[in-house]
Amino acid sequence: MFHTYLVKYGEIGIKGNNRHVFEDALAKQVRLKLAHISGEFEIRKERGRIYVECSGSWDEAETVDALQHVFGIVGICPVHTYELSNIEDMRRDIVSYVAEEHPDSDASFKVKARRVNKEFPLQSMEIDAELGEAILEAFPAMHVDVHHPDILFDLEIRDRIYVYSKVIPGPGGMPVGSNGSAMLCLSGGIDSPVAGWMIAKRGVKIDAVYFHAPPYTSDRAKQKVVDLAKAVAKYTGPIRLHVVNFTDIQLAIYDTCPHEELTIIMRRYMMRIAEHFAEKDGDLGIVTGESIGQVASQTMHSLITTNAAVTMPVYRPLIGFDKSEIVDIAKQIDTYETSILPYEDCCTIFVAKHPVTKPVLQVIERSEAKLKDVIDGLMETALRTTETFTVRP
Ligand code: ATP
Ligand code: MG
Repeated sequence: MFHTYLVKYGEIGIKGNNRHVFEDALAKQVRLKLAHISGEFEIRKERGRIYVECSGSWDEAETVDALQHVFGIVGICPVHTYELSNIEDMRRDIVSYVAEEHPDSDASFKVKARRVNKEFPLQSMEIDAELGEAILEAFPAMHVDVHHPDILFDLEIRDRIYVYSKVIPGPGGMPVGSNGSAMLCLSGGIDSPVAGWMIAKRGVKIDAVYFHAPPYTSDRAKQKVVDLAKAVAKYTGPIRLHVVNFTDIQLAIYDTCPHEELTIIMRRYMMRIAEHFAEKDGDLGIVTGESIGQVASQTMHSLITTNAAVTMPVYRPLIGFDKSEIVDIAKQIDTYETSILPYEDCCTIFVAKHPVTKPVLQVIERSEAKLKDVIDGLMETALRTTETFTVRP
């Protein structure tokens, strides 16, 4: 039985002097994540590694699942620990380790010991040879392959002896909070939750804004967005969600502007409001689920006009993705089933039959100018009546 996980991290290991900042951020995220599951956990940073010591009523599957939702982790290794002893005892221990973790194996293997504790009398290569021999004697079906082993037995000789050979994949990326924060435009669709997840995977903390248009969009549509935020929050931690009442702005655009420009103009007001809350929340950018050419409002021309509404950088992590690629990620991160629930969103109701695909900024601005008598008041009301709350996983 083991009670320790070695947490392997990739990219954050190569950050030079900033390395400890990223390690601290990762340790913090691991701690936050594990605080919500049963068991007691001690997180230990030790020479470029993070160990999670588990005790109490912890459950293996639940602990691994929690760690698989922490960005920055590339691998999760269950580690068995043994008393620091002599080589005879180590030979016995490695045999019992193999019997427990790889029973009846006929795989090829290699032993790789690292002698961190220099007081241990044998050199690393001598330990490799001794333990390799012990395994071969006890498990005659196994064989050594030093170049491409099926199983690599990693040993670390420290105050105790740490042995592991299994690496459970983590989500990769960088720990949330190590790279600032951004405002995600979160609709009920398939794309935007994936976009948020991708940005968060790069270490960015996520706030979110949803444009709600009651009675054209129902409470169920809003609940769907909350549920999507919940699913993303499983990776990112709590998400502050702003629900903007967008109906009156949409109706004003509908009444005043050319219908083929509706979506573009609506999107521009969404961006302005997103930027407002982003600034308020201290975010460094806006995130959308747009991808080039997916719909009329996402052609290169359309993206120019949407972008021009704000000065804050707009990040579009799905920009070069096909829908099928986005769907694959949505399934992997458990947002897909919620996203395909059939509740209407505000864009599908106010959509024109023949939307412009090559909007010209000056033309769009001229149409928007027709709103000048009403828009300031409507914007002010929308901002003031926005409902803000925190969504937890
Ligand atoms: P999704 O991209 O989430 O599947 P969609 O495919 O319907 O939604 P569009 O309506 O073209 O996409 O919107 C493009 C992007 O604009 C979305 O990815 C999202 O970031 C943002 N967006 C659209 N509608 C809303 C909304 N009601 N609230 C918040 N953001 C929205
Ligand atoms: Mg989309």
